[in-house]
Amino acid sequence: MKRKNVLTWDEYFMGLAHLSAMRSKDPSTQVGAVIVSNEHRVVSIGYNGFPNGCSDDVFPWDREGEFGNTKYPYVVHAELNAILNSKNDLRGCSLYVSLFPCNECAKAIIQSGISRIVYESDKYANTDATIASKKMLRAAGVILQQLPYKVNLCVEKEENIQ
Ligand SMILES: [Zn+2]
Repeated sequence: MKRKNVLTWDEYFMGLAHLSAMRSKDPSTQVGAVIVSNEHRVVSIGYNGFPNGCSDDVFPWDREGEFGNTKYPYVVHAELNAILNSKNDLRGCSLYVSLFPCNECAKAIIQSGISRIVYESDKYANTDATIASKKMLRAAGVILQQLPYKVNLCVEKEENIQ
């Protein structure tokens, strides 16, 4: 008899987005993104972090203070990292992301040809960035789909006793 109650594709890819988010060094917000083809193949993956060569030990993760002393001018969002990490044509792909994309990522998502966004949290729905993001994504015909549940992922290390 085959196993029942296996992960659905949505749970699997959102779980993978959460796994990727666990790589983020950001102390306040960890976001993961996974780009998936129509054949349910993972095309690319990313999380929020600084650009290559910009050390986490040198660049700040602060959210407040002078602009240049905060993370905002430096951090690459998970969605953009996933797009930039890909060597493939992303037209028609789906993007799984744990937090609804901001307006800057929305531009990159639209221009890359991604046609569907599956997201979990929309906690910044009332911000100008998210309102502008949705305005562009809807105008471009990108399908926006919020999961009706939250995926919780737990990774634990266990002593390897054999
Ligand atoms: Zn963004």
